[in-house]
Amino acid sequence: MEEAEKKEAQKKGLALHWQILIGIGLGIVAGILLCKIAPYEEWSPYIKWAGDIFLRGLRMIVIPVVFTSIALGVAGMGNTAALGRIAGKTLLYYLVTTAIAAAIGLTLVNLVKPGVGANLNLAEKVSTVGKGEMSFIDQIVNIVPSNIFESLAKGDLLPIIFFAIIFGFFMNKVEKRHADTLTHLFQTIYEVVMKITMFIIRLAPIGVFAIVANTVGKQAGNPQALLSMAGSLGVFVLVVWGGLLIQGGIVLPTLVRVIGKQNPWRHMAKMSTTLLTAFSTCSSGAALPINIRDSQEKCGISNKIASFVLPLGSTINMNGTALYECVTAIFIAQAYGIDLTLAQQIMIIFTALLAAIGTAGIPMAGMVMLTIVLSAVGLPLEGIGLVLAVEQLCDMPRTCINTYGDCCGAVIIAHSEGEKLTI
Ligand code: ASP
Repeated sequence: MEEAEKKEAQKKGLALHWQILIGIGLGIVAGILLCKIAPYEEWSPYIKWAGDIFLRGLRMIVIPVVFTSIALGVAGMGNTAALGRIAGKTLLYYLVTTAIAAAIGLTLVNLVKPGVGANLNLAEKVSTVGKGEMSFIDQIVNIVPSNIFESLAKGDLLPIIFFAIIFGFFMNKVEKRHADTLTHLFQTIYEVVMKITMFIIRLAPIGVFAIVANTVGKQAGNPQALLSMAGSLGVFVLVVWGGLLIQGGIVLPTLVRVIGKQNPWRHMAKMSTTLLTAFSTCSSGAALPINIRDSQEKCGISNKIASFVLPLGSTINMNGTALYECVTAIFIAQAYGIDLTLAQQIMIIFTALLAAIGTAGIPMAGMVMLTIVLSAVGLPLEGIGLVLAVEQLCDMPRTCINTYGDCCGAVIIAHSEGEKLTI
């Protein structure tokens, strides 16, 4: 633990990540008990609001953090070569780790075969699932915003990141006094927004308690979901969790150890507030401001790297989502008794990769993008109804691994740039 944090913890009692863990634990207990006392619909409005305020608070600061930190980070790189080098390494790391995650998912689901013999009658109607179809070319074209204010208003992170990179890059091309004014301005906004982040994070235990109680209550009050968990859906969830554990407990820590030359467990402990926030909110976007703060303050990663690698990662680097999409697509094929050829399975890895890149860092986005993977190999879209009941159970850990992948990326790239880290 950092000195400053230790002092703060001594002053205020328990460290924040413990408080969040207690919030999660109490949330589970409260969700179950409240369901025994009253129907979920009756009590949930009295609890849910606290989680909503916490989530909205985090989302409120995402865009100012992303814009100012990326513009400052890119401007701070100084020259095109540094920007190109860091961007190249970042994209390579993201692509390779996401592909590994997808391959782990594919292998496990083929070995365990959770979908074989699944009860198709338990499938829920999928009217709530929108279509996430967008061609690869469209995805690329849409990275360039036609109206940056529209992107800002809609919270479309990828176009905002693109504009911030361009803006930061050209900040270096104007007269020094103008560049200095902008740097000073962005630095000031960034500092203020980070102070707001710290304030919001203090509310995390209460917010997380409310979110978890509400989620558990929703599941506990849905007997059909519980019933279906007893069968193949339960095995499906275990396969997803197992795959995510391999990615988050073996693959990524090994990369941190071997390429990043850092102790992965100490790193994980330092990032625990970020990871618990991702886990309980199901939103890597919401965990981003905390991730940027802790990667810099606790791990000693420079602003230049953290503010480039992490926002980009929270938008395009989704290890957990890619793994989930592979497992789910094959699970659905198994449930419907459809035999997939090797070429189709490779196609699933490829589309899962693209779908994961296009997935927004918000709850359930990965499930919506699943439509792309299913359409690519001609699997029935209604198959999504099979896994709807356990979406929350899969979204929580996959978001955590999505975010952890970003944290590890920042460490590895910072080390490769010769930074001295404090992990
Ligand atoms: N909830 C995930 C995230 O925010 C995205 C997904 O649904 O897969 O990272």
